[in-house]
Amino acid sequence: MKLEGIHHITAITADAPRNVDFYTRVLGLRLVKKTVNQDDPTVYHLFYGDDEGSPGNDLTFFEYPGAPRGRPGAGMVYRVVWRVGGDDALGFWEERLRAEDASARRADGSLVFADPEGLEHELRADASGDEPLLADHPEVPAEVALRGFDGVRAFASDAEASRSFLQDALAFDARGGAEWEARGEARGGTYALDAPPSERGVGGAGTVHHVAWASGMNEHPEWGRLAAAGGATPTPVVDRFYFRSIYFREPSGVLFEIATIGPGFTADEPLETLGEALSLPPNFEHLRDRLEQVLTPLPATRPARR
Ligand code: ZN
Repeated sequence: MKLEGIHHITAITADAPRNVDFYTRVLGLRLVKKTVNQDDPTVYHLFYGDDEGSPGNDLTFFEYPGAPRGRPGAGMVYRVVWRVGGDDALGFWEERLRAEDASARRADGSLVFADPEGLEHELRADASGDEPLLADHPEVPAEVALRGFDGVRAFASDAEASRSFLQDALAFDARGGAEWEARGEARGGTYALDAPPSERGVGGAGTVHHVAWASGMNEHPEWGRLAAAGGATPTPVVDRFYFRSIYFREPSGVLFEIATIGPGFTADEPLETLGEALSLPPNFEHLRDRLEQVLTPLPATRPARR
């Protein structure tokens, strides 16, 4: 039993309108779900991804309006790594991101940049063989578009404890150094641990809240049992409506989620209009009138490919 790579990554924004602009207009992702934080429905939970809203290309943001910038430290993911086509794609994004003042810098076979709130991203040439998960965008040719997640990098507080947990409890494969891969039948995703900075991490705008790994529907409850057997303290299964979730911290402190591949974002709206209207899970629907008055107005996003 293996996890199918990364399902989604959730980060924090203090500026939802600018966040929508950056991830849809600049990076070319599709806003696939505009919903509310199920723990505080007066603020958004925004989901960006490919045109299908697939697990594997799904970056999500909790909106904490006015929150100060955070700073990644031990026990936090500090970088999101994406797949792109190759060197031509790195050149395309270097030019496009420089024009947006996103401080893009080329490194060994990759391009590193930050979003407007300091969240770090890296683009790498895709060597995975996995199906590219693409969003159509008029200014971003498919050959250079983001293809989905390659992995995340986090700061370790206890890399040795993480090693045995990742390999023995979660069946990640060692890739040498402090890097692992969760590869299932269809997709894989990597997890890399680096030595933490001396300063303590602070959650806030521009930081990652958690990383979710993808599970098939039937084996999902078993992952909670395996995490517990490995010494973690998993939550019960939580129904997030678009998927079911189990949460726990791996030994270095990073918050992990195991999320089911279905039912997915077409559970309450058609694929053609994903993300255009405010989606509320059924138990929040009675709050719609009030929420539509208090939620931050967002810029319109382009309709997806028809
Ligand atoms: Zn999540």
